[in-house]
Amino acid sequence: MSITWTDRPSREDGQGNYRLLRVGRSGTVRGIIISHNLVGTGLHYWKGKSTPCNQSTCEACKEGHTARWYGYIALWSAKTDSIGICEITDGCADDVDRYRARHSTIRGAELLLTRQGQRPNGRILANLTPGSIADERLPSAPDVIKILMKIWGMNENHAVASRPGREKNNRMTATDQVQSGNGSTK
Ligand SMILES: [Zn+2]
Repeated sequence: MSITWTDRPSREDGQGNYRLLRVGRSGTVRGIIISHNLVGTGLHYWKGKSTPCNQSTCEACKEGHTARWYGYIALWSAKTDSIGICEITDGCADDVDRYRARHSTIRGAELLLTRQGQRPNGRILANLTPGSIADERLPSAPDVIKILMKIWGMNENHAVASRPGREKNNRMTATDQVQSGNGSTK
């Protein structure tokens, strides 16, 4: 018998516990962006939970529900040294785009999300400002898609479009760009 001892669990991205960070009714989400890019897809609020639109086989679509685009970025809290996956809305994606155009990357930026007004569906505002922590001192960016697929309990067949889907219905259309069949991209 041989026992292997290690100083940390052997797990890949997506297997750790990453919290999904959403802006509550009148709350805020803040942190330092460690992702290089925003990734997002169309979601339905379906049977009591958020479910990504599966396009051709989507039950929610068949029943006439419209999917809304949401984007995701890994956020790091320096204070607690924890990483969460932050959900942003379609409108906030424009703020992220503008910041990237000005600063060439979003990694290292400080992100503050606030909800306007007290309504649970009030508009979410994103404020990005250059952070003060050097890139090499930031944690490496986790694989956000992999983490989301695990949170959603799905396998890893997914299409990645080069730009967040702004086409009709906000859906990604890259059906011929399936990147990984079984998670073996690395
Ligand atoms: Zn759908």
